[in-house]
Amino acid sequence: MAGDTIFGRILRGEIPCDEVYSDDRCLAFRDVAPQAPVHVLVIPRKPIESLHQAGSEDEALLGHLLLVASKVAKQEGLEAWRTVINTGAEAGQTVFHLHVHVIGGRELDWPPG
Ligand code: AMP
Repeated sequence: MAGDTIFGRILRGEIPCDEVYSDDRCLAFRDVAPQAPVHVLVIPRKPIESLHQAGSEDEALLGHLLLVASKVAKQEGLEAWRTVINTGAEAGQTVFHLHVHVIGGRELDWPPG
């Protein structure tokens, strides 16, 4: 069921999160298993499973998520950072509620694994 994920539960306030930003369209909070000194997830309040399920009606929302990712990165004092959106299990997606990782605070290798 759409929204029936751990992030849906965070959005409904059923489980806590370490919030860093919130507005009417999205929420940003620290990843519970950070891969870098700064690791924040930006999620839409709308329960979109992944980028694969996003439609043209989500165009403004997707742009908003990226602008919030940038805002959060600056708020965290980052001058360089990586944004990651894993789409599908084979690409590493484990929570099926669209989310943008904001990762920074250390040197990041490229290409990712
Ligand atoms: P992905 O593998 O791209 O689907 O990313 C899911 C991310 O959610 C992982 O980096 C997890 O560490 C993170 N995560 C899972 N549960 C929680 C939680 N309750 N609070 C914060 N982050 C979480």
